[in-house]
Amino acid sequence: MGLFGGTFDPPHVGHLVTAVNVAYELDLDVVVMMVANIPWQKQGTRDITGAEDRLALVSAAVAAVDRLQPGRHEIDLGGNSYTADTLRSLAADFPGAELFTIVGDDAAAGLPSWERHEEVVAQSRLVVVDRPGEPVELPGGVDWIRVEVPRLEVSSTDLRARFTDGRPLDYLVTNPVLEEIRRRGLYGVPIGQAGTDDR
Ligand code: ATP
Repeated sequence: MGLFGGTFDPPHVGHLVTAVNVAYELDLDVVVMMVANIPWQKQGTRDITGAEDRLALVSAAVAAVDRLQPGRHEIDLGGNSYTADTLRSLAADFPGAELFTIVGDDAAAGLPSWERHEEVVAQSRLVVVDRPGEPVELPGGVDWIRVEVPRLEVSSTDLRARFTDGRPLDYLVTNPVLEEIRRRGLYGVPIGQAGTDDR
């Protein structure tokens, strides 16, 4: 089982292409796209969309893909989201499952700053995918599994900026995600409007 955690504010094709290709390359039964309840390392830098809204977007994103599942463990655990706790919770729900923690290289570089990161390393195998840009030096002391996936230069930060200034989001997020954003009126999109090309 793969654990692919994130803020997913919003989920984009970079996340989905990563999850589905890691599932294939490592022959995982499922990759759980785990929605952070409180992404404490990002908090304070900007307003973060509510966790239930972000979970709804992830659910819309993965609905059509068998091996991908939305995860609400961190929401149910409450408070700050720590991967060490999430892994424990997954291990309790799926006894005997072999766990893989999947991260982009930017997140991998920050591993030493994670709460109880030694537990993360002890409880799971760590999988890293490269994002476009400068190569990142990976923290030592970890037996990283590197998986090559198509590198897509997409970030949630860029997508939020696109909502703000009206540039197109088409093909960067999937249509079910766009529809759910519209239904919920997220990112300043008036409820019921596409926010992309029906201007
Ligand atoms: P933001 O721009 O708001 O910081 P993000 O696009 O980096 O967000 P997150 O939800 O923070 O998205 O990322 C969750 C996980 O997905 C992290 O491990 C991150 O490295 C990885 N990730 C994000 N975007 C990509 C991408 N384009 N390709 C591969 N991995 C990605």
